[in-house]
Formats: sequence, C-alpha cells, structure tokens
Amino acid sequence: MAASDKTLDDLFVDMLKDVYSAEKQILAALGKMTKMPDSEKLALAFDTHRAETEGQIERLEQIFASVGKPPQGKTCAAMQGILQEANEMAEEFKGSDALDAGIIASAQAIEHYEITRYGTLKSWALELGMQDAARLLERNLQEEKKTDQLLTKMAEERINARAA
Ligand code: FE
Ligand code: FE
Ligand code: FE
Repeated sequence: MAASDKTLDDLFVDMLKDVYSAEKQILAALGKMTKMPDSEKLALAFDTHRAETEGQIERLEQIFASVGKPPQGKTCAAMQGILQEANEMAEEFKGSDALDAGIIASAQAIEHYEITRYGTLKSWALELGMQDAARLLERNLQEEKKTDQLLTKMAEERINARAA
C-alpha cells in the first residue's frame, strides 16, 4: 500500500500495536520493579498495577479482535528507552537513600507515556465510530491515571517523611 493510501484506521491499528508492545514490556518490567523498592507500599503498588496490566492487555486483544486483526505488537522504541533509563538508574542508586525517589520517577515516566497513547487512541476510536473500543481504551486510561496519581502521592509522602 502506498503511504498516500493510508487512512486513520491504519494509523489506529499501528498505534494499537505500539501500545500493545509497550504493555508487554511493562508487564515484564513490573515483575522486576516489585522487588526493587525499599518501601513495601511502593512494591505493593507495582504488584497491583502488574495485575491491572494483564487486564489492560486483554482489553487491547479484544480491540484487535473487533477490527479483525491478530493481536500483534510493533516494538515500542520509546518504552524500550524509558525502561533502559529506569534500569540504569536502579543500578546506579541501588542501596542508596535516593533509590525509591528514582524508581517513582521512572514509574511515572512509564504511566505518562501510556496516558498519552491511550488518550490519543480513545479520541481516534470515537472519530472512527468505534464506541466499544473507545470504552475499553478509557478504562485503560483511567487505570494509568489512577496509578500516576498514587505515585505522586507516594512521592509526596516520601518527601514529607524526610522533612519530619
Ligand atoms: Fe498499562
Ligand atoms: Fe511507542
Ligand atoms: Fe501503567
């Protein structure tokens, strides 16, 4: 297909593949991130979000099915980069007081990437008249936003605990 023949439907499926790849990478990363932080609360939050991520991947698979495509990722290079930075930071700050601050920052970078992708995909789904897909994407979007807010709260608690 010539590039000029591509449509918004094609772009939607391309971005669906991007976020599917990102979620698969995140699922693997969260398994490791659960073991990293000093804070038990933070470890528990990652474990909860790992379970949510499994559900998000299933919703994406439902959307692939609804457009008649096999669920397939298209390597998300952005998430590879975010996770590479996260790993480097965790290595460099292992055993230090600043480790959890760095882990929270890495986790928020992940959530913000997901939020931008789901926001875009949801609006394109609505534009394309795909109400069911839009509803599923909105559920993923809300879980990412909720996780981001929880991370902000934990970052603030950490700062307050240090100040006390
Ligand atoms: Fe996610
Ligand atoms: Fe991407
Ligand atoms: Fe997430």
